[in-house]
Amino acid sequence: MARSKPNDRSSRTHPAQSDRDAESELLVELEHVFRELDASLQADTCPASTECCRFGITGREPYVTSIEVALVNRAIARRGGPRALGRAPAPLSGEASADRKDKRRLALADEEPCPLLDAKGRCSVYDARPFGCRTYFCERATRASGFNQRDINEFVRRIKDIAARHAAGGDLGKPLRRWLTFVRPR
Ligand code: SF4
Repeated sequence: MARSKPNDRSSRTHPAQSDRDAESELLVELEHVFRELDASLQADTCPASTECCRFGITGREPYVTSIEVALVNRAIARRGGPRALGRAPAPLSGEASADRKDKRRLALADEEPCPLLDAKGRCSVYDARPFGCRTYFCERATRASGFNQRDINEFVRRIKDIAARHAAGGDLGKPLRRWLTFVRPR
């Protein structure tokens, strides 16, 4: 994260607060990008099956930058911390995965649900969810927005730009769960 100049008196007195303020400014930028993204995708619909939040089913996991994780972390803190997230979701039934080639029922551990998926099968940080969660479209989603790969690349570029100013290497995405090891499986 861009830090205050060394001779800045306030940074000598409250360095942690100074970093937090700088992060807050970057989070405002990120939320602005996410609002634009959501508006671009408004015409698309999603069946909300939550399969995309179960990485063992999709075989994919969102790669997330440091600034996106900062937004998620603040959302978790507002909810009262990781312990307040409640119980893990139930495994999906075979019926929910009926259009998949592999129709075996998976045990919850095999589904590898995101640690932020709650007992009701909802994202516990929905408004703060990362870019990859906003742009994952399973085969049952309807796509009317015309959002294409070039649009994705441009949003990714803007998010990486913010992340690079947040932390050294912050723009190098890491799998979501690697950032969330403090949220224990429930
Ligand atoms: S952060 Fe939310 S939307 Fe993204 S995978 Fe986890 S539960 Fe799903």
